[in-house]
Amino acid sequence: MQPCNEEQGVDVLVIGAGIIGASCAYHCSALGRSVAVVEALSTYAAGSTGRSFASVRGQWADRLNIELSWRSIQRYRDFANDHGLDVGYRATGYLFLFPQREWQQHQAAVELQRSLGVPVEVLDVPAAQRLSSFDPAGIAGATWGPEDGQVDPHGATSAFLTLARRNDARAWFGAPVVEIAENTDASWSVLAGGRRFRAQHVVNAAGGWSGEVAALAGMDVPVGHSRRNVYATAAGSCTRPVPLTIDVATGVAVRSEGDRLLFYGSHRPDQADGYDIAVDLDWMQTVLETSVERFPYLADMPIDTRAAWAGTYDLCPDHTAIVGADPAHATWVNACGFSGHGVMQAPEVGRIVAEQVQLGRIESVDASSLSLSRFDRDGPLVPIGMVF
Ligand SMILES: Cc1cc2nc3c(=O)[nH]c(=O)nc-3n(C[C@H](O)[C@H](O)[C@H](O)COP(=O)(O)OP(=O)(O)OC[C@H]3O[C@@H](n4cnc5c(N)ncnc54)[C@H](O)[C@@H]3O)c2cc1C
Repeated sequence: MQPCNEEQGVDVLVIGAGIIGASCAYHCSALGRSVAVVEALSTYAAGSTGRSFASVRGQWADRLNIELSWRSIQRYRDFANDHGLDVGYRATGYLFLFPQREWQQHQAAVELQRSLGVPVEVLDVPAAQRLSSFDPAGIAGATWGPEDGQVDPHGATSAFLTLARRNDARAWFGAPVVEIAENTDASWSVLAGGRRFRAQHVVNAAGGWSGEVAALAGMDVPVGHSRRNVYATAAGSCTRPVPLTIDVATGVAVRSEGDRLLFYGSHRPDQADGYDIAVDLDWMQTVLETSVERFPYLADMPIDTRAAWAGTYDLCPDHTAIVGADPAHATWVNACGFSGHGVMQAPEVGRIVAEQVQLGRIESVDASSLSLSRFDRDGPLVPIGMVF
């Protein structure tokens, strides 16, 4: 790219072409805003988005996460009809296996999910075993979300960028943001890939790099990288579809992808945070041992370590996203820190970010728990919802 000294004026500059940035770009452009997207890498969805488990669920324990996720799932479901583009939504289902100590308490979450329109079934152990095979020891009951499932994160990111371009948005790749300054009129001067932008609003959608991007503007946004691994059995080893099945007590989960079984566990406790996408094969042994206790058939399946992958969660200390204007800079909008659920919430996050840009506030949902100002309050930070 040729360096350009002339400043390019836009209403909204979106930093990052992952699924969140792409959705924000589309939704802002749909409101008639001029939009530019700048992406450090040479293509879209090359950060966390392209390395995710691609799963979507309406089953959460709090209103906001249910609203953001379930409305997003419905938009993924209807995407082809609404926009003529395929985002790969498949209603393959999500099965949560609950231990006794969480089962009664979880019934309130089921009530809340149903009251907000999420299809969810409460199953006893034999009914759950008909959907997915598992060792029932210690399992009190299960919940099944038949419209939970998967999307294609690359396809969805591409679709949002395509829609944004139809509204005259432009995207620059290989264009890392290296300099950000606030102007006296509250607009932003941003240098990316040798090009200088003057933006009325900046959307910080840089995933696990969002803390670094905010620091360029002198702001503190506590989001960084935390590695997660997904392991796989050999091709041909999985002969029937397995819906995403989560053992709530341990956090291990399995699902089929074609003729392989994928499995993952929670993060390695002694792992240092930071960007690292090398597959952790030592940790695989621990995850495998825990997984085999709940899913004994896995012990008989050959593992294919070459089919494993690792990526990073865009992690916030309380595993909860930061969405909305910076408390001290109304034209700086954060959309980051999704900590493992950015794919499933991207459609609705883009919509509320556009609302923030257009109205100066988010009013269609109560998103106050996602405000950056929560870190200024005294007391412990508690994750909202069901975190995996
Ligand atoms: C193994 C794994 C499993 C997961 N499973 C799920 C799941 O099942 N369901 C789900 O919903 N979520 C899941 N997630 C989380 C999900 O992938 C993320 O929450 C989501 O992709 C975040 O999207 P994003 O656009 O914010 O970030 P990213 O996709 O990381 O995009 C941010 C972009 O910003 C760019 N960028 C960074 N710095 C700069 C800069 N200075 N200038 C310009 N561009 C910059 C990066 O290059 C990157 O492309 C998983 C993640 C991992 C790693």
